[in-house]
Amino acid sequence: MDLEAFRQDLVACRLCPRLVAWREGVAGRKRAFRGEGYWARPVPGFGDPEARILLFGLAPGAHGSNRTGRPFTGDASGAFLYPLLYEAGLSSKPESQPGDDLRLYGVYLTAAVRCAPPENRPSREELRACARWTDLELSLLPGLRVYLALGRIAHEALLAHLGLGKGAFPFAHGRVYPLEEGRYLLDSYHVSRQNTQTGRLTRGMFLEVLLVAKRLAGL
Ligand code: SF4
Repeated sequence: MDLEAFRQDLVACRLCPRLVAWREGVAGRKRAFRGEGYWARPVPGFGDPEARILLFGLAPGAHGSNRTGRPFTGDASGAFLYPLLYEAGLSSKPESQPGDDLRLYGVYLTAAVRCAPPENRPSREELRACARWTDLELSLLPGLRVYLALGRIAHEALLAHLGLGKGAFPFAHGRVYPLEEGRYLLDSYHVSRQNTQTGRLTRGMFLEVLLVAKRLAGL
């Protein structure tokens, strides 16, 4: 299987009834996007098939990637993330629009849960259900060296994927855990509006994380 075949299988997934109802039912509910077509399906990852750095988020935003079909695109988290990827030299331009010619250099974006959850909170069962897609998607990215977890839930989903226990690898912003075979797990606060507007995660802090990831990945 390649990434294209993965995407085709993924977008047909309806394993989580609550999320299927939400991703479809929330479409067009926000006044600013009324009348716009929503993606309203599972959101496949986006980026460089030869990626060395994985950015692993929580889940699509209801009116962000659930609308546009591309991770971190169309809402405040993407407006924070994409300019910083560009500043770090990891992309071809500082913004993301569905269908544009944006290229990521050595980076791939995806999330622990691929359908938008109510209040951005997937249940434990939904995280478990989507772990099968994480295992498959990451197996198609053999060049990964740095697993950058955005937030505690993404961190724990990555630990499960990597077969590592929570006790020995607590989440902490900026923490680097060396893994086997020259790979690393790196933590950051999530790029959510809640974190960036309160100053919990600043542009400077996240740029620093990206530059650490780049160095660890040998890019
Ligand atoms: Fe399928 Fe994942 Fe969406 Fe659940 S969250 S329906 S497992 S793609």
